[in-house]
Amino acid sequence: MTLKQVVVISGKGGTGKTVVTGALAALAKNKIMVDCDVDAADLHLLLQPVIKESHEFKSGKTAVIDKKLCTECGKCISACRFNAIKPDFVVESFSCEGCSFCTRICPAEAIRMQENIAGEWFVSDTRYGTLVHAKLGIAEENSGKLVAKIRQVAKEQATAQKADYIIIDGPPGIGCPVISSLTGVDLAVIVTEPTLSGLHDAQRVIETASHFKVAVMLVVNKYDLNSEMTLNIEVFCKEQGIPLIGRIPFDKEIVNSMVAGKTIIEYVKGKTKEELVSIWEQIKQ
Ligand code: SF4
Ligand code: SF4
Repeated sequence: MTLKQVVVISGKGGTGKTVVTGALAALAKNKIMVDCDVDAADLHLLLQPVIKESHEFKSGKTAVIDKKLCTECGKCISACRFNAIKPDFVVESFSCEGCSFCTRICPAEAIRMQENIAGEWFVSDTRYGTLVHAKLGIAEENSGKLVAKIRQVAKEQATAQKADYIIIDGPPGIGCPVISSLTGVDLAVIVTEPTLSGLHDAQRVIETASHFKVAVMLVVNKYDLNSEMTLNIEVFCKEQGIPLIGRIPFDKEIVNSMVAGKTIIEYVKGKTKEELVSIWEQIKQ
C-alpha cells in the first residue's frame, strides 16, 4: 500500500490528543511516529524512546564581532536599524534580525554571520517502532520550520523502512507549526472535549485543515462529562459532513496510564480501549 500520513490535532492543548496518538501508535502496524509538538513534546513520555541519532537544528543567522579585528569605529552601531549592536561592540543575539548589513559596512571586516542553533531533532527506537522527535531551544520561534524538518526526516525513514503509515502527534492551536504538520497529510483526526470552547477550537482547526484540503474526522474525549454539548458536536458534525469516529469516556485510568508511561491500549481494558480500537479501524478504512 502507498504511504498514508495521519495527523492528530486539537484546537488547543490538554484535550487528550497525545493519548489518542499513543493509542494509534500501539495499534497501527508498520508505521513511523512523529511528535510535532516541538514546544512541549510529551509523546516520548508514553513511548519512552531510546535515542539513536541526534542532530542540531540550525535556523537563521546572527552577527558576531571579532574583538581582535574591531577598531571600535562605531559604524556598525549606527548602521544597525534593529539596535542590536551595543556600545561595547557586542551583538545582542535576540535583537539581531540576521540581515547581515553590518558585515558589509564594517571597514575592518570584523563581523561575520553565524548560524543559530535553534534546537535538536532525534531519531529514536521505541517498542512500537521509529519515533522522530525534536526539542526547540528556549525562546526560539522557529517551531514551524522544525516541524517541517522532522516531517521530512520521518518521510525518509518511512520510505527506507517501507512503512505503511506515518502517525503524527500535531502541535496544539492553529498557528504556523500546525500548518506545517497539516501540509501533505492524508487525514487529520481532531480531538476535542465537549465544551463550548472545545467546539470553537475544533471549528477553527477544521477550517485550517479544509483550507489545506485535508480530510478531517472528529473524536470527542470525555464525551460523558457533558452529554448536551456532545450532542451539539454530533449535530455540528452531521451538518458539516464530518465523520465523528469516536466518543472516549472520562476514565481516570487515562491519567494513570500516562504516569505509568504506557499507552492506553497497553494499560486498560473495557470501553475506553474498545473505543480507541474502533477509532483506528475507522481511520484505516
Ligand atoms: S564597524 Fe567593524 S570595526 Fe567598526 S565598530 Fe563595528 S565591528 Fe568594529
Ligand atoms: S545582522 Fe543586521 S540586525 Fe544583526 S547586527 Fe548586523 S545589521 Fe544589526
